[in-house]
Amino acid sequence: MIPTAIDRSTLDTGGLFAAGARRLRAALAQVPACSPDLDAELLLAHALGVPRARLRSHPERIPDAGAAARFGELIERRAAGEPVAYLLGRKHFWTLELTVNAAVLVPRPETELLVERALALRPQSVARVADLGTGSGAIALALASERPHWRITATDVSAQALAVARANAAALGLGRLQFVSGSWFGALRGRTFDLVVSNPPYVGEDDPALEVLSHEPRLALTPGADPLACLREIIRTAPDHLAQGGWLLLEHGADQASAVTGELVARGFATVRSHRDLAGHERMTEGQWPKVQRRIA
Ligand code: SAM
Ligand code: GLN
Repeated sequence: MIPTAIDRSTLDTGGLFAAGARRLRAALAQVPACSPDLDAELLLAHALGVPRARLRSHPERIPDAGAAARFGELIERRAAGEPVAYLLGRKHFWTLELTVNAAVLVPRPETELLVERALALRPQSVARVADLGTGSGAIALALASERPHWRITATDVSAQALAVARANAAALGLGRLQFVSGSWFGALRGRTFDLVVSNPPYVGEDDPALEVLSHEPRLALTPGADPLACLREIIRTAPDHLAQGGWLLLEHGADQASAVTGELVARGFATVRSHRDLAGHERMTEGQWPKVQRRIA
C-alpha cells in the first residue's frame, strides 16, 4: 500500500478533506501558483464519485474504506507533483471537458488567448486552419466547437498525443477534424492555410521551471538548449503554407515576445502584434503574411 500521512480509519468526509488539504499544503509549500485546498476537494470528490458540493453538504458521511484508500493514494501522487488533471483524467479548456493523460501537456488557461485571437481574426468566413503540436487537441477542438464550418487540421509528432486528440474529438462529437502526424509543417507538405496556430515547446532545457513540470512530456515543453528553436522553425517555414493575408498565431514564454516579434518581422510578416494574458504577460504574438508577397530569404 502507498504510505500516507492520513489516518483513514477514523475519518468522515470532512476529516478526510482536512487531512488531505493539510498534507498537500505542506508538500506543495514551495510550488508556485498551486491550490492545495482545491486540489484536495477535487480529488476527494473524484475518489468518492460524488459532486464537490456533496462534500460540503454532507461532511459527516463516512466513506467506504475503498474510496478513502483511493483518496489517500491520489493525495500522495499529488504531493509528489503529479498534476491534478492527470489524476482526474480530465481538464476543462474553453467550453470543453477534455480527457488528458501523461502523453499530453495539461491545457493551460492562458492558451485560451490563442483561441480568442483566432476567432477574432477570422470572425465567420470559411477558413483552412492548422493547429501545429495539438497535444490533447485543446486549441483545434475549441476552434471546431466555435466554427463548425472551418476546415481544421491538427498535427503532432507524438502518436500518443494524436490518439488523445482523436479520442477527444470523437467524444465531443467534433469528428470532422483531420489529424496528421509529423514535425511542424513537415506534416503538411504542399498545403496552404488561412490561419495557423501553435503552442510549441518553448522552455529551455536548463530552465528551473522544468522541474515543477517534470510529470508532463518533455517533448511538449522543451526544444532543448535553445528555447526559441521550435518557434523559429515554425516562423521560417510558415510562408510556404500561408495564403496571402493568412495569419500565424504563436504562444510563447512571457519573456519571448520581442524575440518572436523580431523573427516574424525579419521573415517578412506584417501587422505583427503581441497580446497579454489575464496575468498581464505578453504570451502570444500574431503576424499576417502580406497580401503582396515580400518573401525574405
Ligand atoms: N496545443 C496543445 C496545448 O496548447 O495544450 C499542446 C501544446 S504542447 C506545449 C506542444 C506540443 O507540440 C506537444 O503535444 C508536442 O508533442 C508537440 N511537438 C513537439 N515537437 C513537435 C514537432 N517537431 N512537430 C510537431 N509537434 C511537436
Ligand atoms: N505554458 C507552459 C508552462 O510554462 C509551457 C508550455 C510550452 O512550452 N508551450 O507552464
